Amino acid sequence: MLKAEIIAIGSEMLTPFRSDTNSLYLTRTLEERGIRVVAKTIVGDDQKELVRALEVAFVRSGIIICTGGLGPTVDDLTREAVAEFLQVPLILDPELLQSIEFRFRERNLRMPEANRKQAMIPQGGTALPNHHGSAPGVYIAAREKQLFLLPGPPFEMEPMWERYCVARLPQDEPVYRQIFRIAMMPESRVDELLRPVTSELQETTYTILASVAEIEVHLLAPDRAREEAQHAAEKVRKILGNRIFTEGLERLEDVVGALLRKARRTLSVAESCTGGLLGHRITQVSGSSAYFERGVIVYSNLAKIEMLHVPEDMIARYGAVSAPVAITMAEQIRQISRTGLGVGVTGIAGPEGGTPEKPVGLVYVALADEKVTRVERYNFPGTRERIKFTASQAALNLLRLRLMEP
Ligand code: ATP
Ligand code: MG
Repeated sequence: MLKAEIIAIGSEMLTPFRSDTNSLYLTRTLEERGIRVVAKTIVGDDQKELVRALEVAFVRSGIIICTGGLGPTVDDLTREAVAEFLQVPLILDPELLQSIEFRFRERNLRMPEANRKQAMIPQGGTALPNHHGSAPGVYIAAREKQLFLLPGPPFEMEPMWERYCVARLPQDEPVYRQIFRIAMMPESRVDELLRPVTSELQETTYTILASVAEIEVHLLAPDRAREEAQHAAEKVRKILGNRIFTEGLERLEDVVGALLRKARRTLSVAESCTGGLLGHRITQVSGSSAYFERGVIVYSNLAKIEMLHVPEDMIARYGAVSAPVAITMAEQIRQISRTGLGVGVTGIAGPEGGTPEKPVGLVYVALADEKVTRVERYNFPGTRERIKFTASQAALNLLRLRLMEP
C-alpha cells in the first residue's frame, strides 16, 4: 500500500482552542484511492521544528502533505522550511507575483509588500492556484517523493486539493472497506470477542473506534485481499449478530426510525434524567413525524404524578428512580398518546444526588408495547453528559431490538 502523511502547521493547533481538521478531510480522499495515511504531525510556526518534521516524513512516506503556514506574515514559514530541507533556493515566480497583484487590484487594493513572498517557490516546485485566497499552494516532486504544500484555511485548502492535487496522486488498487457499528458494548469486550478473527488477518487492517456508548469496527484491505476481508466480515457478523446496528454510517436513531417506518408503528417517550435528549435524537431524523407522536419531560415527581398518573405512593415506596416508575412512565405515555410503543427513562445523571443504594449512573429504561412491558436497569459510568447520552442510547437500542423481533 502507498503511504502518505500529513503535517498540519500552525501554533494555534498546539493550544487547547483549535484542532487540525484538514487532515480528516485529506485522509478520506487518500483512503478512497488506496493510499494509507501512516502518520500525522502537528507543528507550530517554527522553522526548525518544521524541517525536523519533514526529515522524518521523507523517511517514512511517499506522499507528504503540509497544510498551513503559506500566508504572507512572518510566522508563515512553510516555504522557507521546505527550501531549507530540500537545500534549494526560493525563486520568485513573476507570473505568480502578477496573479497575486491582480487579486488585490481586482478589489481596488494595493498589494502589501509582505505578500511578495507568496510568489516565492522552492526551486523545482509548481505553483497551485488559489481561487479562494492569496496563498498559492506548491507541488514538488523531490527525492522520489511527492510533496504538497496547501494553505491552512479549509475553504482554501479543499478546492485546491480537489482541483490541482488529487489528479497528481498515484492510483493504488481500489480499497475494500467494511464498517460495523455496535451500540451499548464496551470497546474492550468487542475487541476481545473479535480477537479470533482479527488475530488471523494478513493483509486486512482492523481498526476499532470508540465513542460514547458506540463502537465502530473497520476492516480495510487492498483489492487483492478483498476475499480475506469479506471472509473476516462474515465472521464478525456471526460473532456480534444483532449487536451490530448498521454496516453503514447511519446513526442509531436513523436505524430505529427506519424500523418504525417499515413496521408502521408509532412511538412516544417520557423522559426524566435525559431531559429531552431522547426526543431530540429521534427528531434529528428527517421524516420522524411519520412515527414519533410526542415526548414529555417529566422531571419532577409532581410532573410524573400529574402528567403520567404515576401513583404517589409508588414514588414514596420505590423512589422516582426505580423499575416500577419507569414501567409506569412507559405504559402511561403509550396509553395517553395512543401509540404502539412507549418509552420511559428515569435515572440519576449526577454528579450529585447519588446514594449507596442508588448511585450516580443508575438508570432504568422501560419499553411498553401492546403485548409486554420490559424494563432494564443500568449502571453507567462517567460524567452527567455521558450518562444522559448513554441512557438515550440504551433506550434507542432497546427499541431497535424490540422492533427486530418477529
Ligand atoms: P493564510 O493566507 O490564510 O494565512 P496560511 O496557509 O498561512 O493561509 P494559516 O495561517 O496557517 O494558513 O492558517 C490560517 C487559518 O486556517 C487558521 O487560523 C485556522 O483557522 C485554519 N487552519 C489552519 N490549519 C488548519 C488545519 N490543519 N485544520 C483546520 N483548520 C486549519
Ligand atoms: Mg497564516
